[in-house]
Amino acid sequence: MKATEATNRNFARAARLVGIDETTERQLVTPYREIKVELTLVRDDGSLATYTGFRVQHDNSRGPMKGGIRYHPEVDPDEVNALASLMTWKTAVVNLPYGGGKGGINCDPRRLSAAELQRLTRQFTEKIHDCIGPQVDIPAPDMGTNAQTMAWIVDEYAKFHGWQPGVVTGKPIELGGSLGRDAATGRGLLFAAECAFEDAGRTIADFRYAIQGFGNVGSWAARLLHERGGKIVAVSDVDGAVRNPDGIDVPALQAWVKAHRTVTGFPGAEAMPGEALLATECDVLVPAALGGVITKHTAAEIRARWILEGANHPSDPDADEVLEKKGITVLPDIYANAGGVTVSYFEWVQNIQQFYWDEDKVEAELRRVMRKAWADLRAAARQYACPLRTAAFALAMSRVLRATALRGV
Ligand code: NAD
Repeated sequence: MKATEATNRNFARAARLVGIDETTERQLVTPYREIKVELTLVRDDGSLATYTGFRVQHDNSRGPMKGGIRYHPEVDPDEVNALASLMTWKTAVVNLPYGGGKGGINCDPRRLSAAELQRLTRQFTEKIHDCIGPQVDIPAPDMGTNAQTMAWIVDEYAKFHGWQPGVVTGKPIELGGSLGRDAATGRGLLFAAECAFEDAGRTIADFRYAIQGFGNVGSWAARLLHERGGKIVAVSDVDGAVRNPDGIDVPALQAWVKAHRTVTGFPGAEAMPGEALLATECDVLVPAALGGVITKHTAAEIRARWILEGANHPSDPDADEVLEKKGITVLPDIYANAGGVTVSYFEWVQNIQQFYWDEDKVEAELRRVMRKAWADLRAAARQYACPLRTAAFALAMSRVLRATALRGV
């Protein structure tokens, strides 16, 4: 199922509960602005290559638009559109003063040198600089981009508008990045799980976890859940998976991955096929890699009782129906993985104030935001008598609608 279709179906289900009319619904799903630019790169060997850069600005009724920039060969406008819209709902669920956006370039960053990536990033920035800015649209890293990419954007943007570090988040600390940004999405997942389990009279330490993906989100989630006594029984990455029903020694696995760049071959666990991860025996499944992995087919195989969504749109609406019937509780992406954008917001606040926080403050504020959002989400689920994903969309939609109405047509 295409990402846009999945997002729109989730949206439509919530729209019916909130009771909005068709015109308003169409207005809310249609992006505010879609930008497409041609990029010509002079390769290091003197040859030319062309790419397409996208930036979709979905909604700005609650504040500047916010969302990552992805470098990946399969970046396509449909997915960028869906991800931009998800950012609008995500920032609204956790009540950050932002709208949503997303962007990308259809390149394979692993096949470009650092100098080529820098030239491509600068050219992209040059072509969209008029449409982004600390009070307009604030990009951040996503798949295939990182703090260095953000540093190049800040520098290129400064040529046109002067030094404004708040134009992007996820920057290196030396250029105004925030402490705690690296761990933020994993830490947000931990806080989301903590809230949900607390309501069920349980704790992080009561459960066994299987984690798909061991990059930024998956590895931080594994580390933090492990530190709180959770048992990590299986982990996968693009190369395969490992399992240990007695619990994986996560620091040892991290050291292994640092040295070998993959979880496969880790001596403290047995190998298993990557595809088997979703169906592993566990209590909590944490998809933290790709979108669209939980379909009605894979959902039927899932044995966990909880799904903690680290990745963006890992489950499609058909899968949700199966999961609901099986009584599996899904902590949806637009709430559960909002820790990253929340600490990005803290970074932006620090840039504007030119006053920098220590890591304890970042962590405490993140916990506060995630706990307040959980209380709001739980109340919405009760009000509308619906699963958490629909409740999250309904909550977000009401906030966006209210802001839109207050601003007037
Ligand atoms: P990353 O590139 O750091 O890590 C991705 C991981 O997924 C790697 O371990 C990779 O090997 C693994 N992977 C790739 N294909 C796989 C496959 N077929 N099966 C199993 N594993 C596979 O990316 P990340 O920043 O950790 O992001 C992961 C997901 O979380 C993405 O969907 C991203 O959009 C989402 N997300 C990230 C953040 C953030 O702050 N980084 C915030 C919100 C959402």
